[in-house]
Order: sequence, then C-alpha cells, then structure tokens
Amino acid sequence: MTIPEASLRLELDSAALIANWRALDRLSGTAQAGAAVKADAYGLGARRVAKALWQAGCRDYFVAHWSEAASLLDVIPAEAIAVLHGPLCPADAEFAREAGLRPVINSLHQARIWQEAGGGACDLMVDTGINRLGLPMAELDDPVIAGLQVDVLLSHLASAEEPVPQNEVQRLRWNEARGLVTHRRASLANSAGIALGEGYHGDLTRPGIGLYGGTPCAALDGQIAQVARPEAQVIQTRELQSGDSVGYNATFTAQAAMRVGVVSLGYADGYLRCWSGRGMMLADGQRLPVLGRVSMDMTVIDLSAAPQVGEGDWVRLDYDLPEAAAISGLSQYELLTSLGRRFPRL
Ligand SMILES: *Cc1c(COP(=O)(O)O)cnc(C)c1O
Repeated sequence: MTIPEASLRLELDSAALIANWRALDRLSGTAQAGAAVKADAYGLGARRVAKALWQAGCRDYFVAHWSEAASLLDVIPAEAIAVLHGPLCPADAEFAREAGLRPVINSLHQARIWQEAGGGACDLMVDTGINRLGLPMAELDDPVIAGLQVDVLLSHLASAEEPVPQNEVQRLRWNEARGLVTHRRASLANSAGIALGEGYHGDLTRPGIGLYGGTPCAALDGQIAQVARPEAQVIQTRELQSGDSVGYNATFTAQAAMRVGVVSLGYADGYLRCWSGRGMMLADGQRLPVLGRVSMDMTVIDLSAAPQVGEGDWVRLDYDLPEAAAISGLSQYELLTSLGRRFPRL
C-alpha cells in the first residue's frame, strides 16, 4: 500500500542555502561560519539542511534540544554538534558522552552535572546582557569553570539587528570573558551580528535566519537569497457570481462573476489567519490574491489572472521573508518555524 503524496510541499533551494552560508562565511572574515539548525533548521528540515551544509564545508552546528542532536547523528559527526540548552540532568550528560556530543554549559549547576558525569569537551555560554541562558560574568572565576574543557566560549547578542550601544557593551564583556576562561575558540555573532564587523567575529559565527533566506538587518540586503518555497495544490475551482461571498464569516464578496481556487493550505499548516485577505500566491508568474478568511486546511484564491490553473495544479506562496514579514506582522523567524507538519521535508 502506497500512501498518496501530500497536497502541499516545502521546496528547499539547496543551492540558495549553500550560497547564503558561503556569503555569511565570507562576511565572517577569518572566522568560520557554523549553522544554527535548531527547531528543525527553522522548520526547513534539519537533516537535509545539515547534509547540504556539511557538503559545502560547514563544520559546526547548533541545536537547542538533545532530541534534535539525536536526529542528526547519522547525518553529520557528533563532534560537530553543540546542544544549546545544555545538560539539564545527569541523563542528558550521559547521553552526550555516549554519543560524543558537546553540551553548552549555561550555569554552575550544569557545569557540575557535566563534571560529575565525567566531563570532556564542552562549550560555555556566558551571559553578557541578554539575561536568558548563560553563566553570569561574576561566576566565571568559580573553580568548577576552571575545571571545564571548553571548546567554544559563547555569548549571544540581544539586539544585533539594531545599531544600539548594547552591542558594544556585550562585545566588551565577551572579550573580558575570553581573557578569564581557557578555551579553544570564541563565538558571539548570529546572522545580524556578522554584519556588525570584525570585532564581533571571534573564531566562529552562528548564523541561522540568514542561511534560510531571512534578512535581519539592512547590511545583509542583497546578499541573501530565498531558500524556502511553500507550495500547495488547488483542490477545487469554482465560479462565483456577483454577490457571492467566500469563506467563514463572509469577509469577501465578489463584485462580479469570477473564478476562484481552493488551495490545500490553511492555518493548521502555519498559514495563519493574519494572511486573510492579504496573502498572495503565484502561478506561472501571475499573482493570485487570497480571498476572505484562511481556514484550517484551505485558503481560497482569485484565479482571474490565471485561467490556465485548474484542479490538481500547484501554486506557490509568495514567501519572500522580509516582504512577508512586513505584510503579515509576523517575524521572519515565525514565518519559517510555524510551517506545519503536513509539509513533507524529505
Ligand atoms: C538561534 C541562535 C542563533 C542564530 O540566530 P539568527 O538570528 O537566526 O542568526 C545563534 N546563536 C544562538 C545561541 C541561538 O540561539
């Protein structure tokens, strides 16, 4: 028995992904660019993303959860993977040691868990002002930290996409930490941080959104290509008469006879209701506006400009991230990570 193909798909442009990684690696100067592949590579499929980037030469990968690292173990070497949430309990530390993964140590508590499990190479996250995960600067001189075998000394910028004084404050604290803790490599910049310049690069950068087609700051305009292309099938077409309304709560009414298509994509797939009456789909270069409310599994589009499109044909979402963020009010990160599980990511 063969399961029928899904009526929606998420095209990954691997060439664009690799070009974006190369561009960010070049912009990182003498530092190497790694890759943040947490949250299933921002929804694009961590396994296929990691496989493509490994072939391109990327040698450092960051995930948030242990389960995310586990799902990559047959794709890239364990030594290339760091787990940002760190060991929350002894079982996490044991798993890391057995698999050969690097935990990111975020607190004295995590440092003790790691050392008690036997220790080994790890990363250390220092909090320089975001006040999220990370060891406070004041605890860097604790003896348990001196006992760690630190590969990457990390910190994370709170406002890298904005030209604010906080960036420089964090950079100086990170530099201070580099003088206090023995480590092999240092890393501060996410995608937007790379554009802040050489002083932010250290030995390793950690782009995420920029790899996947996001442009978090103006300095990266024109250097990043679109990677993710959500597509869905038209599952029915219909002819509306003047005065006919479309969808829940009848928020669109036809002013004249028109042909519309019902597309197999809805808010359950991450095409949220904020796209109602605003979204755009594309077929053969023609623009097909969303009509009325987005439903759970369906969205209705205007087919006036595309008489050739019929039932079973595929349409593509207009999903250029900076533009889609401006129209929808969602962040570029949310636009990718909310894409649902019904999209195959083979
Ligand atoms: C998610 C994440 C990144 C990547 O950030 P982008 O803004 O997507 O480039 C880098 N470092 C850490 C610690 C992260 O959590």
